[in-house]
Amino acid sequence: MITAHPGLPEFDYIRPTTLEEASNFLAQHPGEARAFIGGTDTFVRMRDGAWQDKYLVDVKGLPGMNDLTFIPAVGLRVGAAVNMNRLIASPEVKEHYPLLAEAAHTVASYQLRTRATIAGNICNASPAGDTIGAGLVYDAKIHVHGVEGDRVEALRAFFKGPGKTVLKPGDIVTAVEYPRPPQGAQGKYIKLGRNAIGDLAIVGVTAFGYPDRTSSGYRFLVVLASVAPTPLLIDMTLLSEKPLTPELIDEAAHVAMNSVKPIDDVRGSARYRSLMVRNMTRNALTEVWKKLGR
Ligand SMILES: Cc1cc2nc3c(=O)[nH]c(=O)nc-3n(C[C@H](O)[C@H](O)[C@H](O)COP(=O)(O)OP(=O)(O)OC[C@H]3O[C@@H](n4cnc5c(N)ncnc54)[C@H](O)[C@@H]3O)c2cc1C
Repeated sequence: MITAHPGLPEFDYIRPTTLEEASNFLAQHPGEARAFIGGTDTFVRMRDGAWQDKYLVDVKGLPGMNDLTFIPAVGLRVGAAVNMNRLIASPEVKEHYPLLAEAAHTVASYQLRTRATIAGNICNASPAGDTIGAGLVYDAKIHVHGVEGDRVEALRAFFKGPGKTVLKPGDIVTAVEYPRPPQGAQGKYIKLGRNAIGDLAIVGVTAFGYPDRTSSGYRFLVVLASVAPTPLLIDMTLLSEKPLTPELIDEAAHVAMNSVKPIDDVRGSARYRSLMVRNMTRNALTEVWKKLGR
């Protein structure tokens, strides 16, 4: 008999009390122990049989994991266990990192966001992760505790492929740090899903711009989700080289479209995705340009 949704397999639930204990346990059981926080990816993959870990290591109670702090001179530090609803509701996030709040708000439903975390979204390394684009344009840093101590990884060098990151056995992400955005920066996240809530992106476009001493007076960044093995940061230098016009934005949208090699899957064909990259990039950049005071 085939069971469409089998129950969870058996596993041992491990709840370490220190980062050292957690890292050592994970390092001693490579391939059979997994750290988790919200569990919104982990338990689904376990239930579906895609992941078969013997040990699930609950790291959300570890020191510092629930801290959410904003220091004007430094930036925003989001402890790995801070759930997305708490992040979205933070006045500092709303004021200084509205793009991050906007992107987090597109993740599934309110109920799911009471569990889902930014760190989990990043560590899951899905090319469709909705909050990753904001992290990439803000140039986020990932704080990691490993068996050799603490270190910091750049988000821009974090992803190695679908589900693959630079993390090694024993590594635990403790926080995601977002530097203070450039003065006057504006952003927009546009997500195309099959329905308004609860679906992964068929295509996601993050656009970000800020005033700078360039020929156009601005610098722009674009990140594309769900159209490559990892989220793609696209070079938008052409938008700095001459005065901005709708035609130049259109050209940038074509550059974005020509940078992707999407696949066909249940959520959309490769051709549809490419065309949506063009249209959504044009719309997102135009929106950012408007916010910058076009
Ligand atoms: C119904 C449903 C709808 C969803 N919709 C969306 C959506 O619209 N957009 C979207 O982007 N995602 C969506 N997701 C996926 C998921 O909710 C997000 O990726 C979420 O942010 C994961 O966070 P988490 O804390 O639950 O991660 P977990 O499940 O706890 O962990 C995810 C992965 O990260 C690793 N990990 C977690 N924490 C750490 C850590 N501290 N150190 C090292 N590794 C760690 C785990 O080992 C695991 O591999 C959906 C999931 C479900 C079930």
